[in-house]
Amino acid sequence: MISVIIPCFNEEEAIPLFFAEMEKIKSQTGHSIEYIFVNDGSKDHTLLVMRNLARKYEYVRYLSFSRNFGKEAALYAGLQNAQGDLVTVMDVDLQDPPELLPEMVKMIESSDIDCVGTRRGDRSGEPPIRSFFAKKFYQLINKISDTEMVDGARDYRLMTRQMVTAVLELTEYNRFSKGLFSWVGFKTEYLSFENRERSAGETTWSFWKLFNYSIDGIVNFSDAPLNIASFVGAFSCFVSIIAMIFIVVRAVLYGDPTAGWPSMVSIFLFIGGLQLLCLGIIGKYIGKIFLETKKRPVYIVKETEKDLN
Ligand code: UDP
Ligand code: MG
Repeated sequence: MISVIIPCFNEEEAIPLFFAEMEKIKSQTGHSIEYIFVNDGSKDHTLLVMRNLARKYEYVRYLSFSRNFGKEAALYAGLQNAQGDLVTVMDVDLQDPPELLPEMVKMIESSDIDCVGTRRGDRSGEPPIRSFFAKKFYQLINKISDTEMVDGARDYRLMTRQMVTAVLELTEYNRFSKGLFSWVGFKTEYLSFENRERSAGETTWSFWKLFNYSIDGIVNFSDAPLNIASFVGAFSCFVSIIAMIFIVVRAVLYGDPTAGWPSMVSIFLFIGGLQLLCLGIIGKYIGKIFLETKKRPVYIVKETEKDLN
């Protein structure tokens, strides 16, 4: 059996379109399919649509959160509840084309790979500034983190049960799936496909949300910013020692004319700024530790298909 995990946030229009597409191709996979829709605290009628599907088809299951916990939490909940031998995660907006699934199943069954990932061949249809920052993000994270992240890789992937078990063992609160899937290792191959437009509804990812998400990725998978902070601190210490020696020597040789206040103030401001920056970086990590030590659940389920009668 293949479990299909579908995180949904305000997707009442997209779900029926998605379900129809999936039903069309499902026989080509040669397996039975279990759908797990995750309602991530939608404000529209997403839950109603899920309920109706689950009433009609016994292979449709759903989880409904008590509020919006984010896509990462929805993925985690889906993985925890999936029962299939193969598990896939898919966006509901058809930007992750279901028609790739049969080929992915074939790939995973005909060779010894554990995971088939997908990546977009290009970023057409995306604002150029977003593409630019995305590219820079992947260059940066791959330089400063041991965990490799593939540029353009989507969350859409088909995994073996073994890999799912491994991912579930990472119980951290701050979840950055792209990194977690890569961190557990296993053999992954990528399929490329052309970028698609959303089938219905609108994306909820603004530029700032994506920017913060990328900072999360960096802080969760690299301690390079901390090292940079220490390095910058040590370097400015070194420079000030040289400057002190220079000033003392100059005072001894040439006396002490009270000049150079503007430059002095500039240096104070510069060092003060550096200190705040480094404190900010450290604070970011402490914030993560704080959230992690509270051991709060990643999500709270309010209703599932078992509550239907
Ligand atoms: N999603 C979610 N919770 C959120 C935001 C998004 O479960 O808080 C789901 C959404 O319903 C969709 C998927 O995550 O199935 C991808 O979202 P979207 O299409 O808005 O992102 P994009 O494709 O623009 O990156
Ligand atoms: Mg989308």
